[in-house]
Amino acid sequence: MDSLPLLADHPYASFLDQVEKPARYAGGEVGSVVKDWASVEARVCLAFPDVYDIGMSHLGFKILYKLLNDDPRTLAERCYAPWVDMEAQLVKRGLPLVSLESARPLRDFDVVGFSLQFELTYSNILTMLHLGGVPLRAEDRGEDDPIVIAGGPTATHPEPIAPFLDALVIGDGEEKATEVALTWTRLKREGVPRRERLIAIARLGAVYVPSLYATRLDPDTGLEVVDRPLVDGIPFPVERALVDLNQYPFPDESPTGGPEAIFDRMSIEIARGCTEGCRFCQAGMIYRPVRERDPEQIVDTVMRAVQKSGQDEVSLTALSTADVSCISPLVKKVTDRLTKERISLGVSSLRAYGLEPDLLDELKRVRATGLTFAPEAGTQRMRDVVNKNVTEEQLLETAERVFSRGWGKMKLYFMIGLPTETDEDVRGIVETGARAAGAGRRAAGKGKPVDVTVSVSTHVPKPHTPFQWAAMDALAEVGRKQQLLKDTVRPYRAVTLKTHEAHASVLEGIFARGDRPLADVLERAWRSGARFDSWDDQLKLSVWEEAFAHFGVDRARYLGTLPVTARLPWDHIDVGLEEGFLAKEYRKALQSRLSPPCGKVAGTFVHHTNLEDARADTRRLVCYDCGVACDMTQMREERLTFLDRLGAHKRSLPVLTGAAASPPADAAPSPAAASSPAEPAHLGGAESPPAGAAELPRESAEDPSRAEAAAPPRAKPRAPAPKGRGGFRYRFCFEKTGPMALLGHLDVVRELPRVLRRVGAPMTYTAGFHPKPDMTFSPALSLGVISLDEYVDLRLERDLDPAALEALVASMSAASPRGLAFRGAVKLGPEDPALSKLIAGARYALAFARSAVGADAEAVLAARCSAALSAASLPIRREIERIAKMVDVRQYLVRAEVGGPDVLSALARAGLVGDLVALEVEVDIRGSGAVKSSEVAAVIAGEPGGAPGAIAPPPHRAVRLQLFGRAAPSGSAAGERFSLFDLERARRVKSAPEPAPSIALAADAE
Ligand code: SF4
Repeated sequence: MDSLPLLADHPYASFLDQVEKPARYAGGEVGSVVKDWASVEARVCLAFPDVYDIGMSHLGFKILYKLLNDDPRTLAERCYAPWVDMEAQLVKRGLPLVSLESARPLRDFDVVGFSLQFELTYSNILTMLHLGGVPLRAEDRGEDDPIVIAGGPTATHPEPIAPFLDALVIGDGEEKATEVALTWTRLKREGVPRRERLIAIARLGAVYVPSLYATRLDPDTGLEVVDRPLVDGIPFPVERALVDLNQYPFPDESPTGGPEAIFDRMSIEIARGCTEGCRFCQAGMIYRPVRERDPEQIVDTVMRAVQKSGQDEVSLTALSTADVSCISPLVKKVTDRLTKERISLGVSSLRAYGLEPDLLDELKRVRATGLTFAPEAGTQRMRDVVNKNVTEEQLLETAERVFSRGWGKMKLYFMIGLPTETDEDVRGIVETGARAAGAGRRAAGKGKPVDVTVSVSTHVPKPHTPFQWAAMDALAEVGRKQQLLKDTVRPYRAVTLKTHEAHASVLEGIFARGDRPLADVLERAWRSGARFDSWDDQLKLSVWEEAFAHFGVDRARYLGTLPVTARLPWDHIDVGLEEGFLAKEYRKALQSRLSPPCGKVAGTFVHHTNLEDARADTRRLVCYDCGVACDMTQMREERLTFLDRLGAHKRSLPVLTGAAASPPADAAPSPAAASSPAEPAHLGGAESPPAGAAELPRESAEDPSRAEAAAPPRAKPRAPAPKGRGGFRYRFCFEKTGPMALLGHLDVVRELPRVLRRVGAPMTYTAGFHPKPDMTFSPALSLGVISLDEYVDLRLERDLDPAALEALVASMSAASPRGLAFRGAVKLGPEDPALSKLIAGARYALAFARSAVGADAEAVLAARCSAALSAASLPIRREIERIAKMVDVRQYLVRAEVGGPDVLSALARAGLVGDLVALEVEVDIRGSGAVKSSEVAAVIAGEPGGAPGAIAPPPHRAVRLQLFGRAAPSGSAAGERFSLFDLERARRVKSAPEPAPSIALAADAE
């Protein structure tokens, strides 16, 4: 049953607290932008086809959000896929899917722009269009419907989703997003018909409009390919857009303060593209050439991002961070700047072999759980096939380094189903893990635990990679190989094997290399209930089976080997690679031949870390003439400039690795080999660069199933951790209303230090290996309960007088997400008891719509109150994580009466208005437990005579009006209540003969 609305004027307000993580849909985060719709020319809804928690970590989304909102001509709002429970609510109520910022349906926008990261999100795109009020198929859209566009890596092979999209932006979206949006709205204002507008959009370049191209069946494959344009003057093939990243600095702010995102940190892109050329990695191919951001700009962005977001962790990200030319001096400079701010620095996709011992030591301080690496294949032959330049010796050396530092766990990511794979390669995966465990055991010392987890996924051949023609293993073969892995691992007790559910990978493989007819399969599966297909617990295989069968689709056609000479369903998209380059790499793979990284001197692993060495090294850089035509002179010059700007003039102890300066003796090719033409001689594994933690393609790094792999190792600033318990103690009082009442307690706990960082009020930290902000909160509230009186005790580094404290309180409110407001603060002395010693009870208002209680509501509720207070017991059944227990609410209920005008005005302050009637109740909070406001509402206002486990109160909304301490009782009377800011009374509690019990254990308290 619906509750009273929490958010004024929000279409979901009455039922948000009936869905999981309701704050996913509420907006109001710090950094979210709500612009006036009338003030802009084009309104864009950035739509992410997965849940909020996943989409909030996506870098491309952040870039476009900032770019479009910074431009006075455009605005951008966000929308994420509704989780299945929310979809059910919207369908049941006939409500549209709306944006977070202004709560408008998708159909109201000029442009709906989807982020295409992954084929298994396609069904969610259909959900979002349908619920957003936009016709599913492009051909069914009318003159006033928005243009539905998409961009991202999957836009480079879009045919199965193409009929649902009006246009796809190919390549970098920074320029095109604004250009498409403004062109579309200008032409619409001029009255240009929809089809003519689409033609104009297609002529902008780097935009593929599927409806403007004819398709035909390719006789070699039986797949439908894009044959020719249907109108003049539109590109064929469609070339990608490529921007100068330094013209588009990475955003220093993006929305924060909602439910926790999977990567809950400020991630800063430091480069796009990759030099390594892994043959399975689409991102490494389609984002070429590697483009590095100006390091000075990066440092500035990092510092501004820290200040604006308040987050305590920054991550420098790239496809392979260790291969960014100035990474060592850049990390050093950023670390130097962050030291004072007590911010963790994460560096994703580090190559662990390059980690200097001192940095590993730093990592150990903050990352106790273990490290993750991605060798991808289990034998050297197979690593050569995939061009993963790493040797087993390097991997074992890494294991020694990791386990000798006290880590007890290491995780290794592998793939099965790679081209040319034999059973020996499959067994090699486990055996590599076992050897790493052996090396680790020797390094760790006797009796120390060593656990190597070998996580094995299934290779999906992706378009625009050298493996685009390779067959994908059929399900039965994947099953057989997984069984082989299980059989092989049996004797190795230190190795834990994890295999991945393969059905989803096969579906991904079909849609990755799919053609336009698969759109019908997609729509049918979606209509039958396909949703969130990348989530193991949501994938509904039967609906996909039925849809494939209905259209008579032969799945083997998409999964088998494709002829290298055939035209492919994605060949009309030109990502910049020379025809023949991928085929040449494929042939080399089949011959187990490596192609060492390009853009580096052959035989070197990482770049020079100082200007002196970089200048002295005049050897040629490797290039395969892949088609993107790098200017090698400019590349070299730019690297020198970046080192110069970072002040890295002379050789010093590198932060990351000295491998560039001293590759293994057997690795360095002769200068002649180094300056050989485009395709150097086979160098075996000898010059293999170090593999790295989280060495993942971009799409994998954003795949929740690999979240741990992508989580970067973090280095705390090198300043010694404070001793803890220093600084100055304060007690803050705050309110949680609106969207904040929908945010979980832990999310609120995460947010408060960020607020303080945003306003420049540094906290002190606890002592130990994992210092945390030193703060204690009042008891957690249930989701959906508003509070006008919350408290936190914390320590700040600064001694603040009352005026400064008042100013701080005001600035904290201004720097908080919508619904979080600070009401006051007092300074505490060492003699002042902690909150946990003081809080003895709470006052709640339970607000009911008068219509829900019935005629003469006050009299009804008054009678219920007196009945409750005269009852000997008020049992109710409480269930926490499926464990039920009976609670006697009467033991905690002190007072219950119909609320007067003061309570109604408090409700109005809490955002609750209308024809309401309220109960005011007072309950004890004890060390042994407490009761929830919903339980009190149930026993007082629920159906009389109902079974204790089934008492449902009428729809209501609870507001915590006050938390208080209680003076020592006199006689049989409860002690007098006092404010938690009343320090004089509070000190007397401390000296009372029977101190109030701690609330720390009141886990079920509100
Ligand atoms: S042109 Fe050469 S250096 Fe540039 S990405 Fe291609 S192979 Fe690498």
